[in-house]
Amino acid sequence: MSWDTISTFEVPEHFSRFPAGVAHNAAEVVSALRNVIEVCTEPQTKEHRKALTRHSSPANEPFAICHCTAIPERLVLLSSIIEVAWIHDDITEEMEHEEACSRHELLKGALQLNHINSLGCPRERSFAKLVRSASALDAKEAPQLIGVLKNYLDTFDSSKQDFAHMDEYNPYRVGNCGYWISSYFIRWGMGLTLDAEDLEKIRDFDYSMGVVLGLTNDYFSWAVEKDQKTDRIRNAVRVLMKQHGLSEQPAQSLLRGIIIDEEERAYHLKGQVLASSPSNNIIEYIKAIELYVGGSCYWHATAPRYKVC
Ligand SMILES: [Mg+2]
Repeated sequence: MSWDTISTFEVPEHFSRFPAGVAHNAAEVVSALRNVIEVCTEPQTKEHRKALTRHSSPANEPFAICHCTAIPERLVLLSSIIEVAWIHDDITEEMEHEEACSRHELLKGALQLNHINSLGCPRERSFAKLVRSASALDAKEAPQLIGVLKNYLDTFDSSKQDFAHMDEYNPYRVGNCGYWISSYFIRWGMGLTLDAEDLEKIRDFDYSMGVVLGLTNDYFSWAVEKDQKTDRIRNAVRVLMKQHGLSEQPAQSLLRGIIIDEEERAYHLKGQVLASSPSNNIIEYIKAIELYVGGSCYWHATAPRYKVC
């Protein structure tokens, strides 16, 4: 095993029922991400500072925690690819929706991979090079990998709606928070594939874990997002304030309760999957995605970026 378990319950702010771990090569991940950040952001910009803050130490490295189950070499590569998407999200989330969508198209264009040197933007060039390396590392999975990234760029910011009901917000937020690329990269990182039958079997469980992931980010990031200059704040605290006419504090406490309920639901759904004679690949995936979701709560609870209240 190339990762260690983390004792999450020593952190007062941590509340997830799922376990967490950290990869042994976390320092290697941090150093690879420093390079990505230098190439993909301008010094002194907000996105540069935010990226450096989230990757400031191996003990609190979000990819080394959430993707601790990945093969070490793959962890470095998948972290670098997702980091470019994260920086892209930081840059575009404060743009007008129309302009943001045209930037998503440009980054998607970089995935053609056959004209990397003609790409003018360092971020697009870096994205293309990293995806090309990942495609070379696992040629059989390459079309799927590129398809998942394209789908993310097509959907994660496809609505400018200001949601006023959780039933509408959750289905959008699962993709918007990057759950489908992250859950794909959990499998890619381990060299694990799930066939159509496997995916159907875990569908409800997977969606429920995606809801937990997105809402947990909302819970911890509300304090830094509430005054963001954007036409589309993506945070369930805001949705709950509108849906129930609440002020911030009770809406945030309600959100924490909703996350705990959703975790319980996911746990029940896991029990159903495990009782249905699942494939070994499903069993491996469930263990890994639990470490992803539990690790995400732990990272948010300890990350310097969110220590503002
Ligand atoms: Mg957030």
